[in-house]
Amino acid sequence: MKVYEINLTLVKSFLIEGKEDILIDSGTPGSGKKIISRLKELGKDPNKISYVIFTHSHEDHIGGASELGEKKFFIHQNGLDYLKEGKIRKPQIHSPIKILFKIASPFLMKPFKGVNGEAIKEGEFLQGIEIIYTPGHTDDSISIYLPEINSIIVGDTLGGKLKPPSIYENYDELQKSIEKIKELKPKNIYVSHGKSFISQ
Ligand SMILES: [Zn+2]
Repeated sequence: MKVYEINLTLVKSFLIEGKEDILIDSGTPGSGKKIISRLKELGKDPNKISYVIFTHSHEDHIGGASELGEKKFFIHQNGLDYLKEGKIRKPQIHSPIKILFKIASPFLMKPFKGVNGEAIKEGEFLQGIEIIYTPGHTDDSISIYLPEINSIIVGDTLGGKLKPPSIYENYDELQKSIEKIKELKPKNIYVSHGKSFISQ
């Protein structure tokens, strides 16, 4: 089992290579092409990847979903409407970047096409793929834990250098979720923005 990072505009998606390859997140609207060409570079047939799991419903994680073709899309229950309707979940910002964000948001918050998805629950998704509910950044944030390689994909629950994000809907829940992640003592922690923590 292996995790590949797919660098997109300001954000990443991830490919979990295993018995069944799984794509995590789909970037901003317009990222579909880039994801597909990167998958081909990795020697994958993008049509054979049937599962896409979203870490949460911020637009820079679900915006490119409709460009990926026929897939089975999974997101936490609380994010389902955003995914289906292409609805924008406004980031709750708690730092000076708020002003910058206000200026940039008409460009970032482009409308996008929704896709049909299914709700994903905490627990085993497929053999070796565990879903952990990690709310705080948003109320639909999940992390994907891979016990076989003791690695976890946390989306935006942690940022580069494992800093807690300054965007969150609930601070206490965020702290609890970060603790939950740390208790697993993962060797590798993959984050969507910035540098992942890779020890192996
Ligand atoms: Zn986010």
